[in-house]
Parts: sequence; structure tokens; C-alpha cells
Amino acid sequence: MRDIEANYIREFDARIMERAQGWVMLDRTAFYPVGGGQPSDTGRLIFESGEVRVREVQKRAGVRHLIDGEVPPHVGFLRGILDWAPRLAHMRMHTAQHVLSGVVFDGYKARTVGNQIHADHSRIDFAPAAFSEHDLKTVEDKVNGLLSGNLPVTVREEDRSMLEKRIDARRANLDLLPRSVRRLRIVEIGDIDMCPCGGTHVRNTSETGRLNIFRRESKGKDTERITYTLDK
Ligand SMILES: [Zn+2]
Repeated sequence: MRDIEANYIREFDARIMERAQGWVMLDRTAFYPVGGGQPSDTGRLIFESGEVRVREVQKRAGVRHLIDGEVPPHVGFLRGILDWAPRLAHMRMHTAQHVLSGVVFDGYKARTVGNQIHADHSRIDFAPAAFSEHDLKTVEDKVNGLLSGNLPVTVREEDRSMLEKRIDARRANLDLLPRSVRRLRIVEIGDIDMCPCGGTHVRNTSETGRLNIFRRESKGKDTERITYTLDK
């Protein structure tokens, strides 16, 4: 399932494919592995005789669920359950991040050169950038105007060549992707932003709430870091 609805799967049944001390690999998973500035999901793996906590998930020759303790060797099937509150917070933050990155690119031609999402606050590094207080207020208002427009968020796969015709490669950081990558997972927000992204997102901007920019820091030559929170 590549559809945006796949981002809302909180529980799933799976089979253990591989195991070692401290981790298991499953035949399917709804856990998001850490990457792209979005933290890993956490949660539980439940089986007939007990359960273990998933404390982190990493993509390393497959998706490894790092667990506290061990799943007994006789267990083949289990149920995965995500910690939903932090995951939903990451989805809201990530969708807001795309809108903020898009607004800053459109208004100031500053690229997103780094970002880190957390459940309670997130940050984006922009370059080249030198924002005034007035710029930040303008950006915040613009972002909130867009978010409050109840814009649908869609996810699909597309050929890189199609995307290159339609969007500015610098907004989408297309020029930084290896040429060998031809198929991209595209996240589109209404008709205001389109960007390749492997992260998880909400289905509509009405779920993000208002964005508040509360800090601006200089991160060296031409680079500025903006930190934001979301109401709700
Ligand atoms: Zn993204």
C-alpha cells in the first residue's frame, strides 16, 4: 500500500523472517525506520507467550526492529503495535515541514539543507538565508494560511523524469539524489507543494494545527536554523 492511508496503520500481523540478539526482521512492518530527519517509531511486538518493546527501528540490509529482550525461538507469528501518539506527532510535524520548506523556497529561494523532526518541536536548516523578524512573521502567516486550507496530502510513486519537468530541482533536492534513483515516492500537498520523501504524513493539512516559529539561529555562513512547534 503506497497510499497515504498506509501511514495510519497502527497494528499489523507479521511473521519473523530473521532474528539475532536484540533484533528481529519481519515479513512486513508498519514501523517507520529512522531516516530522512524523522525519528524511528517505537512500540510493541506481541506474541502468544508474551511481548517485547521495540525501542528503535533501523534500515540496515532490511528493516531491523531493535527490541528489549528476546522473542522466544519457537515464536514465528506476532502482532506489531506502534506507539501512536509520537508517530502521529511526527506525521503532523513532517507535513508542516514540507509546507514551511516550500514557502521559504518560494519566497526567499532558500533551500532546505537539513531537518530534524521530533514529537514536540522540529527544525529546518535553510541556505542561503538571512531572515529578519519580519520575514519570519510573513513566513509563519503564509504557512498557517496554507495549512488552514484543508489541503489533501497524497503519496505516490513517479518517474524522476516526470518530476524534473514539473518542479524546481532545488526545492525537492533532486540534484542531490544519485542519478541511479529513477523511481521516487512523491508527497504532494494540495497543489502547493510536491517533494520526493520517504517519511510519514497526515492525510490533510487540517490535522497539523497552527505552526509557530519560536527560534532562529545562525548555523554558520549563509545557513539559518528555524525551530517550530505545532498547536493542538
Ligand atoms: Zn519529507
